[in-house]
Amino acid sequence: MKKMKNRLRRCGTLHGMQRQFGPGGRSRIRSGCAALVFGMAGLAAGAQSNRVVAVRDRLQPLAAGAVTIGGYLGNKMDLCINNRIVLQPAAPFLRIFKTKNLDPGGYWGEFIGKWATAAALACRYQSNPALTGKANTAMQELIHAPAENGYISTYNASDAFKVWDIWIQKYVLLGLIAQYDEAGDLQYLRAAQRSADYLLSKTGPGKMSLEEYGPPFHKGGVNFSILEPIVLLYQRTGDKRYLKYAEYIVASWSKPGKYAPKGVRLIENAEAGLPLVQYEVHHAYALMSNFEGLCELYRATGNKRYLDACIKFAEAVEKYELMITGTVCNHEMWYNGALAQTGVLEQPNETCATVTWMKLCYQLLRLTGNPRWADAMERSLYNGLLGAMMPRGEWWAYHSQLNGQRMPSRVQGCDISCCVSSGPRGLLITPEWMAMKMPNDALAVNLYSAGKITHQLKNGASVQLTEATTYPAGGNIRFTVQTQRPVTFPLQLRIPDWSKKTKLTVNGKPVTAAPGGYVTLHRVWEQGDRIELELDMRGRIVHAPSGTDQAVVRGPVVLAMDSRLVPEQDTAIWLIGGARKFEPFPGNPKYRSLDPAHDFDSQKEDVYIDLRPVDVPDKNIWMAFEVPFTDRPIFHIHREKRILMCDYASAGNQWSETNLYRVWLPQPMYMGNMYARNTWKLLGYGMKAPMKVPAYITEALKDK
Ligand SMILES: [Zn+2]
Repeated sequence: MKKMKNRLRRCGTLHGMQRQFGPGGRSRIRSGCAALVFGMAGLAAGAQSNRVVAVRDRLQPLAAGAVTIGGYLGNKMDLCINNRIVLQPAAPFLRIFKTKNLDPGGYWGEFIGKWATAAALACRYQSNPALTGKANTAMQELIHAPAENGYISTYNASDAFKVWDIWIQKYVLLGLIAQYDEAGDLQYLRAAQRSADYLLSKTGPGKMSLEEYGPPFHKGGVNFSILEPIVLLYQRTGDKRYLKYAEYIVASWSKPGKYAPKGVRLIENAEAGLPLVQYEVHHAYALMSNFEGLCELYRATGNKRYLDACIKFAEAVEKYELMITGTVCNHEMWYNGALAQTGVLEQPNETCATVTWMKLCYQLLRLTGNPRWADAMERSLYNGLLGAMMPRGEWWAYHSQLNGQRMPSRVQGCDISCCVSSGPRGLLITPEWMAMKMPNDALAVNLYSAGKITHQLKNGASVQLTEATTYPAGGNIRFTVQTQRPVTFPLQLRIPDWSKKTKLTVNGKPVTAAPGGYVTLHRVWEQGDRIELELDMRGRIVHAPSGTDQAVVRGPVVLAMDSRLVPEQDTAIWLIGGARKFEPFPGNPKYRSLDPAHDFDSQKEDVYIDLRPVDVPDKNIWMAFEVPFTDRPIFHIHREKRILMCDYASAGNQWSETNLYRVWLPQPMYMGNMYARNTWKLLGYGMKAPMKVPAYITEALKDK
């Protein structure tokens, strides 16, 4: 409590905030207008205490440290924190803010902000004094770097706002705000305000347009994404100038701009359900960032049109672009990925885009309370995101193939790249959405993992849920309640849309659990209460939106063939799904045939497939299964072939030219050349050899 009071003091004090916004805060929220929301708990990132908002989130993150994650996922989190965030030197990121000799074409200034937001998330998850100290030192250096008019930039004053400057400014502000939220130190907020104020003094209505000098190809999309931190500043200060500027940005989308004669029309396009390739802003990561900002503006204003547009936008991403691994884009651009994903793409699935998609889903989960967005995040987490992280967490992929090989990201500047700095921001939000609370004291569990959840009720009572599971390797999840006295609160368990047959019991008594929503257990909880959940982990055959390719999934996990488990061979194979069985060949029972023949037209629904878990010698492969296929050497002789497939995130995780993998399986698939080779040549611009992890990282890891 003393610590919390100190935090409040540093934040400018409750009285100071009341003076600034007047006494009407509490009453105004009832009328739905912007209001100041106070609370003692959770001043840290993501919480809504001390924020000027018009709508409360339906789902809010728990207090710092309330979620402990064990098992496979917890190990991945630890590796990411220790081998990437802690290990990353901040000096190269800061140097360019001091020397300002960076070519204006460079966007390396984004790295410090991305690192600082990841560090804040890491410290919120688990107290880490060394990392807290490192982040504080770095941010102190940042705010004391030479900054004319308070504007913190890698650019000289004469180059202000040119090319990537405003994109960089976004991450400067996000990093400072994240550190303010985490450390409660007001000087970070003030530094962010000074820097933003300079931008506001030079751009906006009657001044230079925001996109004036932005990269022309992006048609303003890059610069518009400053929306998010501008709204975050409004939420933390109540200063209406920020709100006005945010509304100016959004209004400018519908007006003729320097690079888009009819405007970029983001809201109108979303409302019309337009395919993403038809947007003026082609860059996936940049465009999704604009909608992240729009989510914040909805939170600040309560303008429902903004939320509806964000939902429609995300639905269009799912419909037109999302690949089976929960990833998007090719060459960083919208690409009709849902249809194109079965081919060998040149530069698919930028990690920055995966992370931004997850962050957008996280916004929608908070704002709507609809667990469909947690379904989407889980798919990205266990496939695209973890597949892009190297096994020791020290580095990330820039692009991730669905057919080919994995390759470490190239270095862009400051010994790092956009994607290496983005990846941790996607992984480290996991504790924020794994379990969340509702204004009515409900606890919603969105993601299952071995570990512990501490839920603090408004009446001061605290309850712990310990969770024993190997999910998603296994489908059984057991919660045990620990509480000093009986407590009443609704416990909401997310039942994923794919779990069509779920078993749920509370202290042995069955409860109905329908897929695609929460099941709510409203009762008095007592010490030792047990909840047993069994999700439907049957294998499923998924049909590609295009053509006749199929893929195999199990729970949230996409399976892949990997050259360590399945060598190329001269045969063609078909998946055996559903009720299809071998039958004796008429007139010659010595042979068997598989009937009926594949009927692609009727296979629009997922079909179940019999998967058998197996142990494989390579310990870097998390999960492997025998999958039933058939080959047909002679037209009437059909044989079953059980072929190993592993989880997509493990596939190709030797990160070498010889470790190849593929997800989509044509029907039939000729196995003689089933893996795309040398895809690294597509990933780099004229590279002579596949990328390697930079030496400073491998050297640092040697000491571990
Ligand atoms: Zn990137």
